[in-house]
Amino acid sequence: MSDFVAARRDFMRRFDLPAPDAPRFEPVTLALWQTMLTEEWGEFATALADYSTLAEVDKAEARRRRAELAAEGVDLINVVIGLLVSQGLPVDAMFDAIHSANLAKCANGEVVRRADGKIMAAGRQGRRDRRRRSAGRSRARPTLKQGVAIG
Ligand SMILES: [Mg+2]
Repeated sequence: MSDFVAARRDFMRRFDLPAPDAPRFEPVTLALWQTMLTEEWGEFATALADYSTLAEVDKAEARRRRAELAAEGVDLINVVIGLLVSQGLPVDAMFDAIHSANLAKCANGEVVRRADGKIMAAGRQGRRDRRRRSAGRSRARPTLKQGVAIG
């Protein structure tokens, strides 16, 4: 698998875009990242809508729609990673921590799924829901998330 984070960091440094090694608030570029994120999300949503009707089109069109969905998905990944790297956030460490937490969702062979199919942490969802309700669904993030220190 490609190392998306290293590739994006390399791109940003080649083109003189901020990509600090440690957390650093870089407000100047945020507006541009937000604009690109909005644009790429819109393009991905369109590609996904087109892909959802794949069974209704001929082979050539199906091939085009598959390629478009893959391309727009990678565009979106690039922009999200770029935004995080632009602020010096520990994307690799956070990814590893979240991946480990996701793998731990299967405990003793038990997998808990929400009604829509999302895999939940066994025995944790009830507590998380109660915490969110009592905190008024605060969007504030701790400085230590998934065991990864953020600046
Ligand atoms: Mg795009």
